[in-house]
Amino acid sequence: MKDIQDLFGSCVFNDAVMQTRLPKDIYKAMKKIISEGSQLSPEVANVVANAMKDWAVEKGATHFTHWFQPMTSITAEKHDSFISPSGNGKVIMEFSGKELVRGEPDASSFPSGGLRATFEARGYTVWDVTSYAFIKDGTLCIPTAFCSYGGEALDKKTPLLRSMEALDKQAMRILRLFGNTTAQRVITTVGPEQEYFLIDKEMYLKRPDLIYTGRTLFGSRPPKGQELEDHYFGSLKPRVSAFMKELDEELWKLGVYAKTKHNEVAPAQHELAPIFSTTNIATDHNQITMEIMKSIADKHGLACLLHEKPFAGINGSGKHNNWSISTDTGINLLEPGETPYENAQFLLFLVAVIKAVDRYQDLLRISAASAGNDHRLGANEAPPAIISIFLGDELTAILEALEAGTEYKGKGKHQMEIGVTTLPSFPKDSTDRNRTSPFAFTGNKFEFRMLGSAFSIAGPNFVLNTVVAEILREFADELEKSKNFKKDMAKLVKDTFHEHKRIVFNGNNYSNEWVTEANNRGLSNLKNTVEALPTFISKKSVELFTHHRVLTKQEIHSRYDILMEGYCKVIHIEALTIVDMVKGEIISACIDYQSELANLLNQKRAAGGHYDISLESHLLDRISKLSAALLKKLNVLESAILETKEERAVLAQATFYRDKVFTAISELRLVVDELETLVARKHWPFPTYAELLYSVI
Ligand code: ADP
Ligand code: MG
Repeated sequence: MKDIQDLFGSCVFNDAVMQTRLPKDIYKAMKKIISEGSQLSPEVANVVANAMKDWAVEKGATHFTHWFQPMTSITAEKHDSFISPSGNGKVIMEFSGKELVRGEPDASSFPSGGLRATFEARGYTVWDVTSYAFIKDGTLCIPTAFCSYGGEALDKKTPLLRSMEALDKQAMRILRLFGNTTAQRVITTVGPEQEYFLIDKEMYLKRPDLIYTGRTLFGSRPPKGQELEDHYFGSLKPRVSAFMKELDEELWKLGVYAKTKHNEVAPAQHELAPIFSTTNIATDHNQITMEIMKSIADKHGLACLLHEKPFAGINGSGKHNNWSISTDTGINLLEPGETPYENAQFLLFLVAVIKAVDRYQDLLRISAASAGNDHRLGANEAPPAIISIFLGDELTAILEALEAGTEYKGKGKHQMEIGVTTLPSFPKDSTDRNRTSPFAFTGNKFEFRMLGSAFSIAGPNFVLNTVVAEILREFADELEKSKNFKKDMAKLVKDTFHEHKRIVFNGNNYSNEWVTEANNRGLSNLKNTVEALPTFISKKSVELFTHHRVLTKQEIHSRYDILMEGYCKVIHIEALTIVDMVKGEIISACIDYQSELANLLNQKRAAGGHYDISLESHLLDRISKLSAALLKKLNVLESAILETKEERAVLAQATFYRDKVFTAISELRLVVDELETLVARKHWPFPTYAELLYSVI
């Protein structure tokens, strides 16, 4: 066990390393900078950089990079070596404070949504001091935020950090009202559960659709899917187990608290959950986790699929964003407490989240929107596209009793008064029975379950933090004026629940009745990315994000363009890939098999009617018909692809991709899927679902 303790964080320039490697005054200065999130002075930066370099070089590192999260689906890094000529034909290893604090990657190829004119194509990266530097693959990685020269955010991390500040500011106002004088900061915490698929690499390499698009664009259902539910929590296969072991170790070295691992519902599907941490660290760690998953899989002859829907007909992969708010003194503000005072505070934060989720349903929906996730949301395996909150029967009953001023009939059996009585205790377990809810209260945190597996959690969390910050601001504005805090606070809890309880739903979110009911309640139902995204640039959204200085209006518009264009590009690549696979291989497989059948038919017929030809003629007939349909659907898709060249506004273009291109892909797929079941296996050019899903033995 000692080994693991030594291993953990061994590649991280963390607090313990800083304490031993930095002079006392510099260490103290660093601690202060980290806790306040302020900037490093050049003197401190130089000393820290030098200590970091020495430490990294001792660990075998030769390069450093500013590691950042541009508006693509991956993290970016550009490696520079530490070497510097020493004048005598030799080199010394150098790393300055300037290099540590700020980088200037030539960033013209990252999406900026028009924010960065080409003449100022250089963006710059700035160290996020709250996230420790680490060594990956012989390179010292400095976690950074990435901005344009004008200071506009070009990455996913900047708005996240800004949203954490916004929430901190507003939540502190509330805490002070409750007489809390000890907390200095409020942070949000996140534990993201990560789902993924593992398949054999050899199989993977035979599927261009997996390579180019991350998902299978066709494939008929395997004889066995997930119906027996014998994979969920099942014992791990040796290859998977070896992969998970190495993954855990690599993540531990990088300071990632990988904690839980198990098989998921679908065959070949698995999950990893870390212990929660501060949101921006959790975000960095989740990016690292996804990256390391892929590289370790590769080492084990496996391919790790992070796409939301790699296979049709069986569950896709999501990411559960467990989220809470806590003080720097370690108090979880979403944890019902022991005393009346703590409970009043809990209820106020709880109704703040309820109000935030109700008012900003659309923004939360957008934060979980992507072409990949469109396959999942609302498809009865994942939450629907409708946002609602699960509170559990007991907590709901408590809030309803408070609202009505009636007796709570649960265990407590007494009239409750906010801020006077304690909450009747309710067992935590009873709050987590509903797996269908998109936003579930699970005892001391909320679990936002709509995220896609490939997502950076930065997006959903900056939205969540900001919407809650806004409601806390409204609460604080009102309560700071109050002459009778206890009374007005209690009234605020009741009124807020009364006004926003339509968002609470404890039933089955997969049922059709819920769709009707939600509609009657006036909840929004944004079915797909193209429908959802326009609300991002609405007045309400711009007001919210600009007010809390999380995004400027230009940044919102640039992100909107990037997201829409990203959506179009994903579908474009899918279209080109399926066309290529059909034209390049599937058509010829169909022709080969038909010619084989036709030859056989001819031979049988030549034998003078002795042989029964029903099977061959039936097959030939069906495959010919399907081949004709294949050609027709292929033509439809190819002309749709051609039409995408027309000039259109971004929304019209995305709508075209959704309605024309994506539909054409889906229709072509239906024909291919049936052909796969008819064409002889020896002619079929691609591994089947059965082969892919059961490839790891
Ligand atoms: P389940 O599968 O039942 O949802 P898991 O144990 O797999 O539960 O995941 C729960 C996740 O919630 C873990 O990542 C855990 O660290 C995280 N979590 C627990 N408490 C908090 C908290 N206060 N804030 C954020 N995340 C939390
Ligand atoms: Mg969960």
